[in-house]
Amino acid sequence: MEKKKKVRKLEGKTLREVTVKIGLKRIDTQEGVTVEALLDSGVMGLVMSSEFTKKQGFKLKKLERPMNVRNVDGSFNKEGPIENIVEVNTYYQGHRERTEIDVIGGQKWTVILGIPCLARHNPEIDWRTGEVKMTRCSEECGRQWRPVQEKLG
Ligand SMILES: [Zn+2]
Repeated sequence: MEKKKKVRKLEGKTLREVTVKIGLKRIDTQEGVTVEALLDSGVMGLVMSSEFTKKQGFKLKKLERPMNVRNVDGSFNKEGPIENIVEVNTYYQGHRERTEIDVIGGQKWTVILGIPCLARHNPEIDWRTGEVKMTRCSEECGRQWRPVQEKLG
């Protein structure tokens, strides 16, 4: 039996992935780069592609013990345990924070922001337009965060 794949459409447009453009800076040299990061509630961490870390010259920090990663559905990530992390300064809409990101090989996205990040900043996502706003940040998410002025009316 063959199941037909249905693509859900929304007002005639296929809903794509929700991404944000974030800035990443090396801790040591402060060299920066802008990347398109995927917001993915199916990922239990923050993830960066190992190919990208090499290209950017991000310094890897080896974990004392490799860390097995589970997907939200409980299965183990197919890329195997995480052995390295990178520490970078991350910039987005007035946010600036030092972030430790797990390094994983062989993945399509440069950076994936998973559950911990989504839960902490609780961004407001417009699932129709893909717009992401940081309007619901908790206080602990950083004094660096300057809210954008609300539009009146
Ligand atoms: Zn925040």
